[in-house]
Amino acid sequence: MLFFNQVSESNIETLALTQECEPSWQYQLGHCIKDLKSLCEYAALDINKVAFSNDAHRDFQLRVPYAYASRIEKGNYQDPLLLQVLPLAIELEYQPGYSKDPLEEADANHITGLIHKYKNRVLLTLSGACAINCRYCFRRHFPYSENNIGADQWLAIVQYIKSDSSIEEVIFSGGDPLATSDKRLAKMIDELDTIEHLQRLRIHTRLPVVIPKRITQELCSMLKNSRLQCLVVIHANHANEFDYQVEAALAQLKQAQVTVFNQAVLLKDINDNVIAQKALHLASFKAGALPYYLFVLDKVQGAAHFNIPDEQAQKLMHELQCVLPGYLVPKLAREIPARPHKTLLAI
Ligand SMILES: *Cc1c(COP(=O)(O)O)cnc(C)c1O
Ligand code: SF4
Repeated sequence: MLFFNQVSESNIETLALTQECEPSWQYQLGHCIKDLKSLCEYAALDINKVAFSNDAHRDFQLRVPYAYASRIEKGNYQDPLLLQVLPLAIELEYQPGYSKDPLEEADANHITGLIHKYKNRVLLTLSGACAINCRYCFRRHFPYSENNIGADQWLAIVQYIKSDSSIEEVIFSGGDPLATSDKRLAKMIDELDTIEHLQRLRIHTRLPVVIPKRITQELCSMLKNSRLQCLVVIHANHANEFDYQVEAALAQLKQAQVTVFNQAVLLKDINDNVIAQKALHLASFKAGALPYYLFVLDKVQGAAHFNIPDEQAQKLMHELQCVLPGYLVPKLAREIPARPHKTLLAI
């Protein structure tokens, strides 16, 4: 027993040490993998065997943080994490029914950076940047550059929220809202704290998964100290996206009294079977995040090859219900433009 204790203690020390030595999240955000050669070297792939398309890469750049790339299985061309980030020629094929703005968000965008489509909740597109470029993303064509929130826009947003007392919840979204500095977030949260009718602050972010070091002490303190009830919705699609660093990041959020959920997208060849789904929701729960939505694909140009037909998705959910406790079964949903809520697919 003593022997085991010694081993585990020294493991914890090594872990603490590697975390300390790790570059800051800002560095990791800037210095990520942006070309095929680096990706192949890192994931031990033969560059000639990878189905990479330069045109697709030009359309929507390859972008993968090292922390995420380290979880790609070396030498596996079908790795579920690799397939989420690899630009493929098939993305450029025309597919009827797939559009550049499938959610028609351009219409709901009343004031810059704010989308008020659902009652009681406003969504702010805080940052156009993402740490990782997910090939299936419905925001791949979103005009973020027209949606930058500068000081004037922020004033207008605060004014909008103040003037509508039905708004209870503010959702930080993007891009990835945590690509923003803690200093900027702190200023925003301080101001939101003073709006009496607000009750909750929700952050939709993939950063705790792709660069776990983004969960800083400062961030945790500001969420803990906010008057608002805080929620973080992470985004992971496969069990392999969770490792001890992600678990440590989510544990910090929990310590700060933040409620953590995971939302995922149902993706062909990545998580479209009951084994992968079960593993995903168990891994997510183990890390401290409850399953929230499982989205069927938004019909965005370039992502058609990830699509799973509704009937197949529904069948999968039936299977999943048989192998998971009810609290680990996510809601199968889709976003339909102009509806006042997400649309649940009956199962
Ligand atoms: C998804 C979404 C929300 C949040 O919806 P929930 O069902 O509460 O998770 C809010 N506003 C917009 C514009 C959304 O797309
Ligand atoms: S918004 Fe989310 S899904 Fe889309 S590219 Fe960014 S991290 Fe990926």
